[in-house]
Amino acid sequence: MDLLKAVFEDVWQNLLHPLLYFTDPGERINVLYLISSLLLAYYVFKTSAQNLPFYKYIFHKKIWASRSAFVDYKLFLFNGVLKIILILPAINAWRYLGVYTNDFLEENFEPSSMLLSQTQILIAYSIAVVIIYDFVYYLVHLVMHKVPFLWEFHKIHHSATTLNPITQYRLHPVELILNNLSYFVVSAVLMGVGDYFYQGVINQAVYAEVNIFAMLFLFWGANLRHSHVKLRYFNFVERLVISPFQHQIHHSNNPAHFDKNLGAKFALWDWLFGTLIRSEKQKTLRFGLGSKESQHYDTFLKTLYQPFKKIFTWPKNQ
Ligand SMILES: [Zn+2]
Ligand SMILES: [Zn+2]
Repeated sequence: MDLLKAVFEDVWQNLLHPLLYFTDPGERINVLYLISSLLLAYYVFKTSAQNLPFYKYIFHKKIWASRSAFVDYKLFLFNGVLKIILILPAINAWRYLGVYTNDFLEENFEPSSMLLSQTQILIAYSIAVVIIYDFVYYLVHLVMHKVPFLWEFHKIHHSATTLNPITQYRLHPVELILNNLSYFVVSAVLMGVGDYFYQGVINQAVYAEVNIFAMLFLFWGANLRHSHVKLRYFNFVERLVISPFQHQIHHSNNPAHFDKNLGAKFALWDWLFGTLIRSEKQKTLRFGLGSKESQHYDTFLKTLYQPFKKIFTWPKNQ
């Protein structure tokens, strides 16, 4: 009984933790990024013919108070607590992997003799970290879509029928764990490599992708990816960087859009691997898995158990 009480108190104390995301510079829903997204949304509003006032265009009840949105909010809180209880304790293992990578390089290779200044190293490394993370994200996301077993879990994210910035946290815990695992492995290896090349200059924040290049992306309307605001980029830019509208296409229930625009920041990977769709010529989109299937995920509890149920009833389900 004491254990139960302790667990309950732990959960209760951590329940408010996700609210700290609003001030975390590494989180997309940091207040600053939300404000910049709002300004960009105003630009889209002004340049497109809307027949309702701006506040209604942005804060429409149909979007923020939809059944789908409430599932997003619950998963946001649930996953926030889960991250603290389950995932962050694993951070020590992550540090060991970083140290092991560094030891391996130092034992097997000559000491690095890079002739770059500290600033040059920091800039080069910040860019490398953003690019490498993004590529790994693309691969993990592609696998989530293509492997039927994993798709059942990733479907939770795609079952949202309305999009708002909190929808980015609408993930099944299994996906949350896989995402964090791949993130930790990549960041540990990068940290080991970074330390090999230049002891001490690159700090943990850079490894954790909190750097000017990642922040620029977040600042440039990243919150509009999960929204109805159709912010497009120039046609040629959308081959290199994913616009918010392109991610909305990723959420479309039109089969022509399935498994497309899988990148997080760069569209480059989609372009290279043939999964790119640019926003040009795309107009109205409907989000979700189609009305019949989205119904299977229209409550918080359903999103948690449905993937297991579907996997256990294979092949009847396919
Ligand atoms: Zn996806
Ligand atoms: Zn999404």
